[in-house]
Amino acid sequence: MPPARPALRGLYNSLVDVFDFVAGEGYEQVVFNYDRASGLRAIIAIHSTALGPALGGTRYWRFESEAAAVTDALRLARAMSYKNAAAGLDLGGGKAVIMAEGDGTKSEELLRAYGRFIETLGGRYITAEDVGTTGEDMDMIHRETRWVTGISPAYGGSGDPSPATAYGVMHGMRAVALELWDDPSLDGRRFAVQGVGKVGKALVGHLVQAGAEVVVADVNRDHAERCAAEHDVEVVDTARIHATPCDVFVPCALGGVLNDDTIPELACSAVAGAANNQLLRPEHAGLLQDIGILYVPDFIINAGGVINVADELNGYDERRAHVRIEGIYGNVLKVLETARKESVTPSVAANRVAEERIRSVGRIRLIRGPQAATF
Ligand code: NAD
Repeated sequence: MPPARPALRGLYNSLVDVFDFVAGEGYEQVVFNYDRASGLRAIIAIHSTALGPALGGTRYWRFESEAAAVTDALRLARAMSYKNAAAGLDLGGGKAVIMAEGDGTKSEELLRAYGRFIETLGGRYITAEDVGTTGEDMDMIHRETRWVTGISPAYGGSGDPSPATAYGVMHGMRAVALELWDDPSLDGRRFAVQGVGKVGKALVGHLVQAGAEVVVADVNRDHAERCAAEHDVEVVDTARIHATPCDVFVPCALGGVLNDDTIPELACSAVAGAANNQLLRPEHAGLLQDIGILYVPDFIINAGGVINVADELNGYDERRAHVRIEGIYGNVLKVLETARKESVTPSVAANRVAEERIRSVGRIRLIRGPQAATF
């Protein structure tokens, strides 16, 4: 029976919506945790464990409402199922959000309460850093649960995932080069990199080392100048980086950079970079295809970071992780080949590749050994 008080009735209605949404979209589990002493308000969304435990980061953010927090957790958890599946990992997709309150400080108590919350799921969800959380936060969470990745090398972890992400993007670029010019070499190719923070700057280093010509832009002048000084590259205006004539435009800053305003101004053969959610809307993939620009879906080419942290689950081995990250070369080629064969955009092809692996490999996990037949 619906509760009588108006506030509770509101909650009742929104919970009904959450259940409908979760059921309709095929999510496995959504868990809410409130800890009175620390003030923790956290939501963990598990989209799928068909391929293995659900791995995805924890976002610490000041959300407008609880509904916004749930929506974000659900959306991001689903995206992680696709990203992990397409990366060839034995991991499902999940994501967590912690609602920032007050002055936004993450106390030890709050992070450890959150660690205990993760622990209650017994390994069905494994966390990592995301927007608003850091490697130090992961170390703190690790004091309460082993179901956390991206911890410091001092604790056996892999540390900051950014260098691994950049390394993966560079290998994805080689696949782009093979697709466009029948030669994976980046020597003499021109790249315009938008955003030279942790990933962008490391990527510029790889590109320059491979003999590429690179121009960069960053709203943070210090970042741009530091990158220019370190790698001897040209700096251009941030408002025009996307329109700079080049072979590949490389978004490594914010999401939504491929939109109605920027796409007609692009002067490149391909767009491929680390930034998440580069397309403002899904239909922008079609717009790029229509004007003959090859777009590499972000979640395929930027998977180096997650591949690296996932390796911690086997006891981190940098060499083994790097070999798997180099596989992004093949992952990109597979998506582009699927797009060609099925006459769809690379974005649609990337989703199909992920869904096919979840279906086929997820199915074999249902095959049971002799012990399962004894009861
Ligand atoms: P970062 O904050 O270290 O770097 C982002 C850089 O972009 C900063 O230098 C910032 O000043 C700059 N920037 C912001 N707005 C800009 C604009 N309009 N024009 C030009 N420059 C702008 O972040 P990061 O860790 O390097 O991540 C970059 C992107 O890659 C983000 O979208 C992130 O979500 C995505 N990503 C990162 C990782 C990782 O391992 N760090 C993994 C996957 C995806």
